[in-house]
Amino acid sequence: MARYESVLESIGGTPLIRLTRVAEGLLPRIYVKPEWQNPGGSVKDRAALAMLRRAEADGSLRPGGTVVEVTSGNTGIGLAIAAAHLGYRAVIFTSSVIAQEKRDQLAAYGAELRLVDAFVPRAHPDSLPSQGERYAAETPGAWLAQQYDNPANPAAHYASTGPEIWDDTDGAVTHFVATVGTGGTISGTGRYLKEVSGGRVRVIGADPITSKYSGGDGSQKYIEGAGHFVHPETTLDEWPRALDLDVIDDYVPVEDQRAIDAIRGLARTEGILAGGSSGVALAAAFQIAGRLTADDTVVVLLPDSGRTYLSTYYNDSWLAAGGFTAPGSPARAEGPAVGDYATATPLVERDESVAEAVRRLAADGVADDDAVLVAHPRAGRVLAPHPSDIVGWTTPARLRGAAAVAETVRPVGPRLGIGLALTDPAVTAWDGTEGALALVLDRGRVTGTVTWRALHREPVHALPEQAV
Ligand code: PMP
Repeated sequence: MARYESVLESIGGTPLIRLTRVAEGLLPRIYVKPEWQNPGGSVKDRAALAMLRRAEADGSLRPGGTVVEVTSGNTGIGLAIAAAHLGYRAVIFTSSVIAQEKRDQLAAYGAELRLVDAFVPRAHPDSLPSQGERYAAETPGAWLAQQYDNPANPAAHYASTGPEIWDDTDGAVTHFVATVGTGGTISGTGRYLKEVSGGRVRVIGADPITSKYSGGDGSQKYIEGAGHFVHPETTLDEWPRALDLDVIDDYVPVEDQRAIDAIRGLARTEGILAGGSSGVALAAAFQIAGRLTADDTVVVLLPDSGRTYLSTYYNDSWLAAGGFTAPGSPARAEGPAVGDYATATPLVERDESVAEAVRRLAADGVADDDAVLVAHPRAGRVLAPHPSDIVGWTTPARLRGAAAVAETVRPVGPRLGIGLALTDPAVTAWDGTEGALALVLDRGRVTGTVTWRALHREPVHALPEQAV
């Protein structure tokens, strides 16, 4: 065992653990690298410390200064640890929807939290990055870490994560699988492994299926930290400079449900409790492992622990509210469930011409008073829309005579998982005043709607299974 003279020295040096039970039947050796063994509980401790040390060295962070960052949580935790230990103030801008456990950890280290609505176009002054940038510019002594563009982020992985994997496999690693957020982990680790192996190691980007990195439509996903989401009104989509696209040989797109299945299976079968982005990486690794041989050694980087997501991916109520299923739990409640009362609902796009929308709906046989969902436009949708892409609802009757689709939009009520029992508190709490129509979610995506009135009648339709 090692001995460290400070918490900062203890960052890095995580082990490899062989998967035996869940990998049964697969030919290659599969090892995971549990990055939650870092003191802050995630891979981001490495980048956070490296960025902060570089800022001290180049004079952009001075004694008494303020560390500022925009983060999905883990980089903020790494920075908060270093700031606490070294005597800096830390101000962290993060999305108001990140797991409560991450917010609580940030607060425990004394960081000041600024919760921001993340569903705002990048260039807007209220967007998460804009608010962080403005705060840093206006605060004397502030340093903004900028993990997305900071070269110290991938450099941390080139210097530590890559060599650790090479040494711990005695140079036998043939495939490295990681998710891509800022790209720091995959770029730095992947570049090191490619260089040291003379180009032999294959680097696989495991990516949420709607993420832009692997060619998705950019719509939101439920897995935190991995992938690249783009607000539909963002015109200039800039990719991180920390991401080195040349290093990634292949992408494997993974749906949220598959990622959740992978980590829940890992916990119950292997005894390893990993976070959501770990599930994306694992699902991708299992997929490629099916094509590999007994001569291959796959290393899968697991960015953080499932302890951070006990209120989400490991919580059966959270899963049911999003229409996800949990291994070992029924997909639908016994007795009447929301899905029995829901109808598949057509979609118009907010910027579509009214005449075109009316013509199309009539051709599809949509009746004048039928509900129609209004969505943000998304080129090349890969799945049914994410609820954040739904602007509201309308009807062909309202559309007719309006100048623009947007004029006709009515607010929607709650989001209800397809398998929720009618007696579930999420259903009974809805009294119809918030909106007469709720979104029905199947594996996190909007596949239909249900009216408040329909929930008080006998079942009428069943939603078709979502095609994936
Ligand atoms: N998973 C989680 C949980 C994360 O917080 C992050 C960082 N945003 C990543 C994966 C991706 O790591 P990176 O930024 O190094 O690409």
